[in-house]
Amino acid sequence: MGVLIDLHAHTTSSDGTDTPAELMAAASAAGLHAVAITDHDTTAGWAEAEQARPAGLRVVRGAELSCIAPDGRGGKVTVHLLAYLFDPAAPAVVAEQTRLRAERRARLRLIAERMAADGLPVDPDAMFAGLAPDASVGRPHLARVLVAAGLVDTVDEAFARYLRDGGAYYLPRTDTPVERAVQMIAAAGGVTVFAHPFARRRGPVVTAEVIRELVGHGLTGVEVDHPDHEPADRDELRALAEEQNLVVTGSSDYHGTNKTVRLGAESTAPEQLEALVSKASAVPVLG
Ligand code: AMP
Ligand code: ZN
Ligand code: FE
Ligand code: FE
Repeated sequence: MGVLIDLHAHTTSSDGTDTPAELMAAASAAGLHAVAITDHDTTAGWAEAEQARPAGLRVVRGAELSCIAPDGRGGKVTVHLLAYLFDPAAPAVVAEQTRLRAERRARLRLIAERMAADGLPVDPDAMFAGLAPDASVGRPHLARVLVAAGLVDTVDEAFARYLRDGGAYYLPRTDTPVERAVQMIAAAGGVTVFAHPFARRRGPVVTAEVIRELVGHGLTGVEVDHPDHEPADRDELRALAEEQNLVVTGSSDYHGTNKTVRLGAESTAPEQLEALVSKASAVPVLG
């Protein structure tokens, strides 16, 4: 195996199970050359990751932004946008992330309360008491409660039976319009990569035309190699990236024990990382 570069990983700052320091150690142990910390709607883990960075590991500071996009068929769909190397103190970024984290907490509480009202083994107060006060919370936190209560065996089963998009307990969020998020990160000196655009097992996805449209707004790259992408979807995305001159990334979307995927299970080519870095101006890659 050549150089391993994993540009999408979560920590306890959102819905991963490794602390940022543990992610750094795990990346080193997995033999990664570079890793990105990309928690949902927060940069709260950046400082600890920087403190704990082992010698020889390059660390790309980023976040995964919750966005809403046209689906290309006249409807709307939730999408994720990876943002890298932006100024975490840019007022527009701080305001949007603060708003989204508050909404994440309100939404998770409402979902938990609805489950409790239906007699499912969930105590909303106990769940929040077990979470860091500033954590960017999400459905995987609730999924773990359902696993701990023995209602389901795995986080994936909790999603399939209760929490998936459009499922019985699903509640929407007011996510950021994706074209606005792309522009916001560019204005904050960062770069954006469309995360797992064809992750069909999670629900409806965008058409290629929606990605083309975003290139005009300043989108830098597309995540092609992702565990939730089938081979045919990877081929289509790679061709689209070539056509649109987009940076191509590959990443595990590691969530610790909240998912079965290993760090470094997918990887980004070194020249693609360099292309991303060369287009960003706000913060450097560490190491
Ligand atoms: P939320 O932030 O509350 O919208 O939850 C999104 C997170 O849940 C993502 O990070 C995914 O990793 C995870 N997720 C979304 N859909 C599924 C699914 N169908 N099965 C397992 N995990 C999922
Ligand atoms: Zn997640
Ligand atoms: Fe995602
Ligand atoms: Fe993710």
